Amino acid sequence: MSKNVSNNETLFARAQLTTPGGVNSPVRAFRSVGGTPRFITRASGPHFWDANGTRYIDYIGSWGPAIVGHTHPAVVKAVQDAAAKGLSFGAPTEGEIIMAEEICKLVPSIEQVRLVSSGTEAAMSALRLARGATGRDTVIKFEGCYHGHADSLLVKAGSGLLTFGNPTSSGVPEDFAKHTMVLDYNNCEQLEEVFKNLGSTIACVIVEPIAGNMNLMRSTPEFLQTMRRLCSQHGALLLFDEVMSGFRVALGGAQSLYGVLPDMTVLGKVIGGGLPVAAFGGRADLMKHLAPLGGVYQAGTLSGNPVAVAAGMATLKIIQKPGFYESLSTQTKKLTDGLTQAAKEAGIEFCADAIGGMFGIYFTSDVPTDYAHMMKCDKDRFNKFFHAMLDAGVYLAPSAFEAGFVSAQHDDAAINETLQCARAAFAKIAAH
Ligand SMILES: *Cc1c(COP(=O)(O)O)cnc(C)c1O
Repeated sequence: MSKNVSNNETLFARAQLTTPGGVNSPVRAFRSVGGTPRFITRASGPHFWDANGTRYIDYIGSWGPAIVGHTHPAVVKAVQDAAAKGLSFGAPTEGEIIMAEEICKLVPSIEQVRLVSSGTEAAMSALRLARGATGRDTVIKFEGCYHGHADSLLVKAGSGLLTFGNPTSSGVPEDFAKHTMVLDYNNCEQLEEVFKNLGSTIACVIVEPIAGNMNLMRSTPEFLQTMRRLCSQHGALLLFDEVMSGFRVALGGAQSLYGVLPDMTVLGKVIGGGLPVAAFGGRADLMKHLAPLGGVYQAGTLSGNPVAVAAGMATLKIIQKPGFYESLSTQTKKLTDGLTQAAKEAGIEFCADAIGGMFGIYFTSDVPTDYAHMMKCDKDRFNKFFHAMLDAGVYLAPSAFEAGFVSAQHDDAAINETLQCARAAFAKIAAH
């Protein structure tokens, strides 16, 4: 293997020699859709290019962060300016205060916030804080929601209602999983029943208020209102994981759309603008339990890193420009309406949903509102569609159960080109 003929195939073969599966995060390996992962060399606006020199219209946007488009000049300049002043100090900086002030201003329920480096770290820390503040161990999560890969959260439903969960990963002790109960998304009665039986032992409920890790799925307003009421009645805390939905479905996240306020919120993805920033925050009387004020320990060498914070702040500034979300929503809706129309013309069973700059496409007749229905979407058809689109230069998430992302740089030209590719892809599927 010569380094001179690097292309996707040779890079993937080479990567597998020194990196497990050739990737640093599993979904990148294309296992669900098959084929060779594309190795990306550069990006600009709504596009990126792979090692074979092929250009793609990008609909993952780094799984959400690239909301203003790739290599936005203001973000690149902020990073360059910050880097020139020093990469990391291990001591506080004013940039961290500015970012905390901005998050407290933008997210309705956050009074105080702590910065960390990944969504996993933020969710794990918020969970520890919830347990520390309540003095309780039990955590409730929902099937299909992802909250990073901390031990307590890699848990799936047990064999029946009111039983505790089973680990979804080897290496997670049963003793950890037994403190996590996994319930059905959008099922209010089940939640009522669990609180009736176990209410006084529940530390927190953690939920994606708009789910993006089982494809896109909206929660019903009743679902969020019910968990808010039950948590307040039973002294449990409500944690919204808005790592994906935050600054993505709306400037104030899903909580601003539903008007349901959690006790704590977990953020990531968009707030780093493409560099590693995540955060968890909430009521000041809860946040005071964190070290150095309180007994819940949490720390990080690179937390609030000045270069990462600069990228995040530059991004947060751009998304606050008047009309940003209106325009983002319009473009996303053009995409999903166009895809739906194209599928209809080809006679393919298909539907789509969009919220802000996030979308879901489903090979089924109605937009799923529960996990079981979502799992019934036609995965083979998705995989065929994915590859037809990829061959035509459109990069969708390489799994039927991931959401898609549109950036502010996806102009009419990019959307129209995508729809033209989609008409050909649907026609190809219909012919089989
Ligand atoms: C991506 C994601 C995480 C994990 O964030 P990482 O930065 O990948 O660790 C947690 N929760 C949700 C809802 C996410 O979408």
